[in-house]
Amino acid sequence: MITLDTEIDKIKGVGKAISKRLNNIDIKTINDLLFYFPYKYDDLRKITPINELEIGSRANIIGQVELIQNKRSPRRRMYITETLVSDGTEQVKVIWFNQPFIGRNLKIGDKISLVGKIEEDYSGPFMVSPIYEKITGGKPVHTQGIIPNYHLSSNLTQKQIRFLIKQVIASAGTIKEWLPEETIRRQKLLKLNEAIKSIHFPKTETEIEKARKRLAFDELFLVQLRSQKIKRELESLKAVKINFFEEETKKFVKSLPFKLTDAQRKTAWEILRSLNNDQPMFRLLEGDVGSGKTIVAVIAMYNVYLNKKKSVLMAPTEILAKQHYDTLCNFFENHNIKIGLITRNQKIISDKEGTDSSQIINDSDIIIGTHSLIQKNIDLNNVALLVIDEQHRFGVEQRKILTQKSSENKILPHLLSMTATPIPRSLALALYGDLDISIINQMPSGRKKISTHIIPENKRQDAYKFIKEQVAEGRQVFVICPIIDISDKLGVKSVKEEYKKLNELIFKDLKIEMLHGKMKPAEKEKIMQDFLGNKINILVSTSVVEVGVDIPNATIMMIEGADRFGLAQLHQFRGRVGRSNHQSFCFLFTDNQSSKTMQRLQALTKYHDGFALSKIDLKFRGPGEVYGTIQKGFPELKIASLFDYALIKEAKEEVEELLKKDKNLINCPKVKEKTNSLNQLIHME
Ligand code: ADP
Ligand code: MG
Repeated sequence: MITLDTEIDKIKGVGKAISKRLNNIDIKTINDLLFYFPYKYDDLRKITPINELEIGSRANIIGQVELIQNKRSPRRRMYITETLVSDGTEQVKVIWFNQPFIGRNLKIGDKISLVGKIEEDYSGPFMVSPIYEKITGGKPVHTQGIIPNYHLSSNLTQKQIRFLIKQVIASAGTIKEWLPEETIRRQKLLKLNEAIKSIHFPKTETEIEKARKRLAFDELFLVQLRSQKIKRELESLKAVKINFFEEETKKFVKSLPFKLTDAQRKTAWEILRSLNNDQPMFRLLEGDVGSGKTIVAVIAMYNVYLNKKKSVLMAPTEILAKQHYDTLCNFFENHNIKIGLITRNQKIISDKEGTDSSQIINDSDIIIGTHSLIQKNIDLNNVALLVIDEQHRFGVEQRKILTQKSSENKILPHLLSMTATPIPRSLALALYGDLDISIINQMPSGRKKISTHIIPENKRQDAYKFIKEQVAEGRQVFVICPIIDISDKLGVKSVKEEYKKLNELIFKDLKIEMLHGKMKPAEKEKIMQDFLGNKINILVSTSVVEVGVDIPNATIMMIEGADRFGLAQLHQFRGRVGRSNHQSFCFLFTDNQSSKTMQRLQALTKYHDGFALSKIDLKFRGPGEVYGTIQKGFPELKIASLFDYALIKEAKEEVEELLKKDKNLINCPKVKEKTNSLNQLIHME
């Protein structure tokens, strides 16, 4: 008997090959298949009579095959399948290229449904390469009604997925409801099994809307439940109380080469206050690129040092870890603070080569490393503050590891997670009930808006000329390319190719270097040092410089193939310049001139705020596709978006209501079961 747990290869028509492909996208059972949601729909509800077809439009017709033949085109060496289809009102020619099997599949007299574009040549109108479907009784699945589109990978086709879901959709009736009855009533939600049926085969737009709402609500409800649960677990944990050394802190702040912004002061104060507590702090420090988060963390670490405790600072890349190391050595130049750096390839303590990681940890007051540092067995007993820089998931894994470690030794470090991901405070609070949030909502004074332009190909030389002038004034330049090696994909600019071109043809007199992920760490390190020291004028790089890299003297960010990046990511690249008082520039190049691409890139020239840009990206790419950095933090959200503001709030209120009455979910065993499986999922990531 077929149940929800039945494995996918038991379905009719699924052999080894297809089941393997389905496994690749995590579809193993019928249940998985039903929860593989479409990301968009084609509205093919209207059937056009053949005599009303319009040239240039896409249409759905139904008719009978009156003639069919495969030919070989002598000129272009390809197969052409030609048919004549009639629906009683008129006849139309239909052609396919290089799909000779269609000619074998369709017979004269077959009734078929077709969706495709109408074009015209000397012989009249014809339909070109349509999707086709034989009608043998039931209703067409691929060419009529509202047709779901699924994300495809590993060689699966829309037709295959639709065909499979159609076969098992009846099983959706057996999906068990898990939300409490009263939540469903209060929020006016569809039943889960109805939502599943409608999301795959909706009859109207309202049905899609309702199904989406229900399924998105489920995801957001679970996110809420998790974060409120963590919050309660945290309340029973212990940390080292860090006293605030006011005099010393003031003196240190005075010694800095700049004056702190009000926002930096305020956030530093919020952090110091949380540290002065014997419960662990779990705080998110949010500030757009260049807002100056590092120094805020440094002030906290300084106080930890004054309390004779250790801090750990973790960065996503080795480049960034080294940069933090150098920055901190500078800030603390006149203090006797031991700073250690531990990455896979570098082990340094107080500017001397170190060898043994545990020795460095033991001897340092501040330990800097990459994110893998925490996975290693560092003795967190002596670490009072853990700072995590530039992380999308805002320390979800770290909180997990920490809470696990806490069961061993009870005393936890305070956690500060820093991010440039621009989430408004209310949204962040709604999403992370378990985190405190500090936001730096102000740029250091004197910063100018980065002047951003889309440069058409015929103005490229002007851009190069401008770059020459800037370099002559002492400034530096980033050139970003989407890929490292020359590729056979026509037109995609590569680091190696651009480097060669700029070096040999365009800027013969300038010092140019390249940087990419395939280089050895020592080479990368040398290049970054030379760039920071202005020994390199132009750095041609891949996205390895996306986050964090701080070269204040760089003022031009030139991006090749800009259409290949998300807006949030482009905003991050742009954040590499504009880090000083010099006016900075961002030049975008693309050879994709489609109006959609242009509009998307134009948003970057108009908006300078990361959150607005993420939202626009979402609009252009559509839900279910890549959301940029914000959504990356929530892989569990398949259908809900972080911009479903109202729904997030409602989910939060429902969870609070539920926990208020029934804090251990005794009366909702199904909800409890769901949360447990969610926890396992997070654990496995
Ligand atoms: P992000 O928030 O992107 O991590 P950083 O901490 O790297 O930003 O700071 C960006 C640059 O601004 C650094 O060169 C830093 O020294 C400088 N900076 C930080 N705060 C100020 C300030 N209040 N005034 C001037 N420059 C500052
Ligand atoms: Mg930073």
